[in-house]
Amino acid sequence: MHEMSLSQSMVEIIQEQAAVNGFQHVTVVRLEIGALSCVEPAALSFCFDSVTRGTVAEGATLDIIKVPGRAWCWVCSRVVDIEGHGDPCPDCSGYQMQTRTGNEMKIKELEVA
Ligand SMILES: [Zn+2]
Repeated sequence: MHEMSLSQSMVEIIQEQAAVNGFQHVTVVRLEIGALSCVEPAALSFCFDSVTRGTVAEGATLDIIKVPGRAWCWVCSRVVDIEGHGDPCPDCSGYQMQTRTGNEMKIKELEVA
């Protein structure tokens, strides 16, 4: 499952951060997910809860922030926001789009105790 491996790599990053910065417990993990990343937030929370057991992030709240995707519209000759893969341009309703960003997922912030 896609969300399981994502959760595991998140925990690795968090544990690295804990070792470097010397915190004992993470209370909130603020995560930015691109609208085009195909990550299911509910599935991700579920996997995150199970992989964080016994780690510094056990019981941490996963705060998911969805960031819109960005695509280049060849008709409008500019970058526009899109909600999903294959969405038309919000301005001209055209489909001549080239995705720029929105597939990424990154930890934006950790609240620690
Ligand atoms: Zn357009």
